[in-house]
Amino acid sequence: MNYSQFQQELLREIPKVDDLIQDLSMEVPHRIKVIACRDVLEDIRSYILSSPNPDAKSVNYETIRDQIEQRLRSILRPSLRPVVNATGVVIHTNLGRSLLPKEVLQVMADVASRYSNLEYNLDRGKRGIRYSHVEGILCELTGAEAALVVNNNAAAVLITLETLARGREVIVSRGELVEIGGSFRVPDVMEKSGAILREVGTTNRTHLRDYESAIGEQTALFLKVHQSNFRIVGFTKDVSISELSGLSARYNIPIFNDLGSGNFIDFSRYGMEYEPTVQEVISAGADLVSFSGDKLLGGPQAGIIIGKKVFIDRIKKNPLNRAVRIDKLTLVALEGILRLYRDPEQAVKTIPTLNMLTLSRDELRSRARRLQRRLRSLKLSGISIGIADTISRVGGGALPLQQLASIAVTLTSQSKSLSAAHIERELRKNEPPVITRIEDDRVFMDLRTIQEEDHAIIARALASTHARLTCV
Ligand SMILES: *Cc1c(COP(=O)(O)O)cnc(C)c1O
Repeated sequence: MNYSQFQQELLREIPKVDDLIQDLSMEVPHRIKVIACRDVLEDIRSYILSSPNPDAKSVNYETIRDQIEQRLRSILRPSLRPVVNATGVVIHTNLGRSLLPKEVLQVMADVASRYSNLEYNLDRGKRGIRYSHVEGILCELTGAEAALVVNNNAAAVLITLETLARGREVIVSRGELVEIGGSFRVPDVMEKSGAILREVGTTNRTHLRDYESAIGEQTALFLKVHQSNFRIVGFTKDVSISELSGLSARYNIPIFNDLGSGNFIDFSRYGMEYEPTVQEVISAGADLVSFSGDKLLGGPQAGIIIGKKVFIDRIKKNPLNRAVRIDKLTLVALEGILRLYRDPEQAVKTIPTLNMLTLSRDELRSRARRLQRRLRSLKLSGISIGIADTISRVGGGALPLQQLASIAVTLTSQSKSLSAAHIERELRKNEPPVITRIEDDRVFMDLRTIQEEDHAIIARALASTHARLTCV
């Protein structure tokens, strides 16, 4: 490599790590200061070497010191931290899926900071069972005979298949061999569990006779998988749990339904698509049902397995159960959420996921007006702040076709330095970050997923975004 004289001169002018460290006023362990200095100086070196005509200001001492302080702040900041979800996707897997209500946080804090009866039977003064804290209420809410909970629904599916069908055949419709995303694919999970996949029917049509003719010596289970994030429409036929339950009884082959999301509330009562509830699936004849804690249920990440006691007992005894066991903070949060479901009307108000999904357009419009007034009062030149109709999504692979009519506050730029893409990026880099989406060259902030306390954050973020983008 041949570097120009100028590049070599600049390299020589880069300040020394020791000098810079002496000069940093932040109270930070020495080792962290060294890491930050080296990172920044390394970036400057590669900038100088990779630019044919590097900027001489890149080696300015004060600028470098500022960069190091900025780097230190970013090293010291927690990596996993809250963001404002202005995307309108309610169960946003990348943004943490479900928010827990305040009531539940209080119990979590108590259990986290004190000892608890996690695995201790207070009546008998002996070792107790971890999931006993939710088994009773799960049975009460769903009508199932028994229940257990594990780390997430992927684990629930894996352990159920491993327990009931390892080395034997599981009959599944070709229309249900789904990929959920994040590498959860039904055929792959099946293979990992040691069960043998026996596909029946076609992508769009599967009949009861397809299931029946696949039954053999090796059949262990009928598996029904919720299609979750897609739908097959048109010339279709699938076999319902209640249709399958006749075969199940006749041949003594249990039915396991991976419901994916799993809801206790009938959303059609709130003007949304009908989706069978967990209770309905149990009473239709499923022997085992599994679903997520943090999708439509609106609780913490967990996998819930409910159904016939004979099967649940076998799953509980599986050594894998220890490997996929639920953490105590998750467990206490889950119990808190389940308790709220005892009063479904109240649950829809207090569980954030349900509350956001059922917000009326009038409520969203009045929130949008409030946010608009607040942002307009900042009097930012070059950005016009409007209100537009938009569509929010349920997310989390649940109700993929459901369009939720919603209202957004929009930011339209009137100058080049303030393009929608710039604004979106700067809002995202704010602390806390504000995640928006761009539509028709405008920044959209959907009021459905914006929380009350987010309004002030958005206003501050927009003011500083504007200041940063207009000062250059
Ligand atoms: C989401 C989903 C899963 C995985 O659930 P997690 O709780 O995210 O592990 C499994 N099966 C189906 C059908 C799903 O929709």
